[in-house]
Amino acid sequence: MEQDKLEQDKSTADGAELASPGLDRPFSLAAYDHVPDALLDVPAPELWRHLPGPTLFNLPGRQTGTLFLSVLLHGNEDTGWRAIQTVLKRARGRPLPRSILLFVGNVAAAKAGVRTRPGQHDYNRAWPGTADPRTPEAAVMRDVVAVAQRTALFASIDIHNNTGNNPHYACVNSCDDDHLQLARLFGRTVVYFEEPVGVQSAALARLCPAITVECGRPGIEAGVAHAVELIEAALALQHFPDHPIGEADIDLMRTFAIVKVPADATLSYDGSDADFRFRPDLDHLNFAELEAGVSFGTHAGRRLDVIAADDAATDYFDYSDGEIRLAQDAIPAMLTCDPNAVRLDCLGYLMHRIGRDGRRLAAMRR
Ligand SMILES: [Zn+2]
Repeated sequence: MEQDKLEQDKSTADGAELASPGLDRPFSLAAYDHVPDALLDVPAPELWRHLPGPTLFNLPGRQTGTLFLSVLLHGNEDTGWRAIQTVLKRARGRPLPRSILLFVGNVAAAKAGVRTRPGQHDYNRAWPGTADPRTPEAAVMRDVVAVAQRTALFASIDIHNNTGNNPHYACVNSCDDDHLQLARLFGRTVVYFEEPVGVQSAALARLCPAITVECGRPGIEAGVAHAVELIEAALALQHFPDHPIGEADIDLMRTFAIVKVPADATLSYDGSDADFRFRPDLDHLNFAELEAGVSFGTHAGRRLDVIAADDAATDYFDYSDGEIRLAQDAIPAMLTCDPNAVRLDCLGYLMHRIGRDGRRLAAMRR
């Protein structure tokens, strides 16, 4: 492969060469102008044999307006990589309908089969807008965005999986019509969020319509097929429809709180002794319209950490009688029963329905 290293600003605070924990090579962005056929059968955990690290592929296509795709920002979420392999295989021997800028993210974490390797900064918290701009990962994402800024972009799609029981859904950082039209290509369930910061979709939303898609658990063919359908629809689309998306065409929700378990607290899902004993079917609450009072489990005197999207002084949970109960109506998302996911990210999110104008809507009981 012809490698053309992107010029990059390596001036860190102390002027030292950027190095990535856990990698013996200097940590920088690799760039190629094609995907060799051999890569189209390489599973995500084996990519490290072929790619030096995070890699950007600039693939020419017929239509102007490039589709930006990012996959494997989390190393154990391989649906995006499998989807782009399928798309490129199907297009083999023909020009792509439009150009693709493909970012393959955390190759080192994919090798280890984990979201993020110990010592690494989360690849989907390191984009411009991040709370930690001085990490080596943030420098790489700045390089990626610099290339994206020089490219006429049509849209951006960042492809993820999650660990709990969730429907497939798209997330947006803007409720402008083109962003919602792009999300609607994936499905009618759309989540608007402002936190966490440093995510790919928030950085790319400044340049073009941008979404993150959550394709369910990794390793499930239906998730790959759905991502393939989305990518092919975005490649084929000439332009976004002129008519605005109607309220009835979309289930739009807004994340208003991120729920975390304090780092020093213990947790269980099987009733065994812990600071937080969550119900075993916690992730089955995802996307259900819950009323205040629904229990997430019991506690031994500790409190969950809640990061609120607004400064509203409000209680999110009621801890009376040793129970962890919702203190207000909410629709949870990404609640997980995987303790590793809780440690590396969060327990889950709380949402409510919003209208196209961003205002909260009354719950629709179903
Ligand atoms: Zn992810």
